Amino acid sequence: MIELKDVWFSYDDRFVLKDINLKVEKGERVVVLGVNGSGKTTLLKLLNALLFPVKGTYIYKGRKIEKNAFKDREFSKTFRREVVLLFQNPDAMLFNPTVYDEIAFGLRQLGFEEKIVKERVLQWAEIFGLTQYLNKPPFTLSGGQKQRLSLACLLVLKPEVLLLDEPTANLDPKSVGWLIDFLNELKEITTVISTHNLSLAPELGNRLIVIGEEGSIIYDGELEIFIKDQEKLLRAGLLHKHKDRVPLCMDKHSMQTHL
Ligand code: ADP
Repeated sequence: MIELKDVWFSYDDRFVLKDINLKVEKGERVVVLGVNGSGKTTLLKLLNALLFPVKGTYIYKGRKIEKNAFKDREFSKTFRREVVLLFQNPDAMLFNPTVYDEIAFGLRQLGFEEKIVKERVLQWAEIFGLTQYLNKPPFTLSGGQKQRLSLACLLVLKPEVLLLDEPTANLDPKSVGWLIDFLNELKEITTVISTHNLSLAPELGNRLIVIGEEGSIIYDGELEIFIKDQEKLLRAGLLHKHKDRVPLCMDKHSMQTHL
């Protein structure tokens, strides 16, 4: 469904993603793990065609994804409906006067009739527990509610690929739990989820892609195997070797033997 072939990307004169080769099949749940600054957001923006490779090729459903492809309005509409990205900070996505208008926005952009817009907005507001807030401005919602609203805005479009950028980063534990349960129910949708949180990764998906600190993929496979590989964990900057900690009560002699 998705293929990146030898993809390189730079914002300026420094490559932040290097030689990325990646295939994602329909229905897969992929976790992209890497430290802050390793290029996870950039990768998701490439998959969402907000950015385009400097070198290499992005193919979606057999079609090469490049800037020119979006001059074709029909293709552009289809791609924007099928492949959606949840930004790390929900505030970046919310700008409509009410929760209702926010959920309706994408559907209206795509030219859906107002009757269908209403049906779908009410349906998704219900699923995400937002019905009572429909007439409220989005900025009055809590962080967890904003995250749910952002997801509703995307899922109302019935996407085929859901890209989630650090979706748990700003959530309290209860909302993280809710999100994980929700994602587990999304069987049909292909999802690519980025995180820098190694301990959360197993909850988010079954296939793991790790971007090393230098911006290339250093692992693609089962999560269980990766977390047992100390060398790879260190290379990805996901493990930190602490200097031996000396208990405060130690006397000079035992400290020497400890060291
Ligand atoms: P991550 O999501 O893993 O934290 P990013 O994809 O956000 O990583 O960033 C990868 C690298 O690209 C970082 O070094 C970051 O500073 C740089 N970067 C991100 N966005 C821009 C931008 N708009 N202009 C220049 N450099 C950027």
